[in-house]
Amino acid sequence: MMTTGTAIIGGGASGLFAGIFLKRAGEDLLILERNPECGRKILITGHGRCNITNLKDPSELKKGYNEASKFVYPAISKFSPADCMKLFQDELGVRLKVEENDRVFPVSDRASDIRDAMVRYVGEDNIRTGFKCVSIKRKNGLFETTSENGDVVTCKNLILACGGQSYPGTGSDGSGSRLAAGLGHTINKPRASLSAIPATYESLNDLQGVTVENVSLSLYFDGKKQASAGGDLLFTHNGISGPSAMKISREIPAAITGEVYILADLVEGLTDGELVGRINANPRTKLCNLISDYVPRSLASGICGDEIYCRDVRSEMRKDVLRKLRSFRFDIRKTPDISSAYCTRGGVILNELCRDSYESRLVPDLFVIGENTDVDGISGGYNLAFAAGSAFLAVKRILG
Ligand SMILES: Cc1cc2nc3c(=O)[nH]c(=O)nc-3n(C[C@H](O)[C@H](O)[C@H](O)COP(=O)(O)OP(=O)(O)OC[C@H]3O[C@@H](n4cnc5c(N)ncnc54)[C@H](O)[C@@H]3O)c2cc1C
Repeated sequence: MMTTGTAIIGGGASGLFAGIFLKRAGEDLLILERNPECGRKILITGHGRCNITNLKDPSELKKGYNEASKFVYPAISKFSPADCMKLFQDELGVRLKVEENDRVFPVSDRASDIRDAMVRYVGEDNIRTGFKCVSIKRKNGLFETTSENGDVVTCKNLILACGGQSYPGTGSDGSGSRLAAGLGHTINKPRASLSAIPATYESLNDLQGVTVENVSLSLYFDGKKQASAGGDLLFTHNGISGPSAMKISREIPAAITGEVYILADLVEGLTDGELVGRINANPRTKLCNLISDYVPRSLASGICGDEIYCRDVRSEMRKDVLRKLRSFRFDIRKTPDISSAYCTRGGVILNELCRDSYESRLVPDLFVIGENTDVDGISGGYNLAFAAGSAFLAVKRILG
């Protein structure tokens, strides 16, 4: 049996950040990680480049956390993206750069540089790998955590940082929710966020790989519009992906009953009148060429064929083309798969945690951080920014 001041279950992004802050303060800590190494998910972030944070002002950044934006604000403002950059550059020795949309990456473009620097700072002595926590008990004001091999670690403070349920091969298989539930916490059922969406659409030509820029998506179910999102749209082999689809994916109901569909405005900003005017003004132009000014050629030819000239476009065809451009329909018959989502929606519910410390309102000295909580951010460095900020506040409370 081992004893430590603070045990952190999970050596992913949030657990490593907590380890860094405790180590910096000279505190006794132990990260308990189930895998043979820490931070496997960090290695695949940002397509292997790790978009570690986003340099927007926290008052702007908070808008990227959906319903949790108010709750998350103290975390991302008390340990801001600027603080995160400073930590990596000044203390962890990783040079960073800022790219489009304020996204921050290591200059080397290697996620492993981020992961390795974090592990190095925490120190191997403070990390125990191969420890899959299966039970947590409260005994005489301490926590007793037990691994599936029967090893026991006792601690005064316990930080749950087991992540969500996406990409389970990296280690985050939902056990954090089970451990928190075992301590009395309520769990919002995990489901996919930032995911591709399996969908069928009116069969045109093969659109796999086609990207349409600046599309506006609206999601409908229960007979009404439920959510909308904008951005680029990518047609995939079995549906849609790209920023707009990833953003709206979290709103798809957990169980698909009845009609669930997305209408895509592929030509946002273009009015019906403008399009009709252009068709009328260019009688000798092929309609497909004209439509290609707005959407990729293969999509345009799928929508209206290659042969018809604008002068031959009758009102019924015009209406059909307009409908496809303004309300292209995707039918959804399957919930997006959480295991291939970038993030998990769901986890420990937020009103059972203090927003200034991520301490449990039910169990003193228990903290829940990162994706183990019911927080999911949009893509662009938001989720790692939250992992860092929530870890910072938990450690701040532990330090007193
Ligand atoms: C493909 C992909 C790309 C992404 N890119 C970005 C990006 O560029 N920028 C960004 O901000 N976010 C990105 N994200 C999201 C981001 O990676 C996560 O939000 C972040 O890693 C969450 O950190 P975490 O510590 O909460 O969980 P995780 O990083 O998942 O870590 C949880 C850790 O806990 C361990 N664990 C789980 N259960 C147990 C247990 N019972 N006992 C012991 N250990 C356990 C796991 O093995 C794991 O190491 C991406 C996600 C994916 C899947």
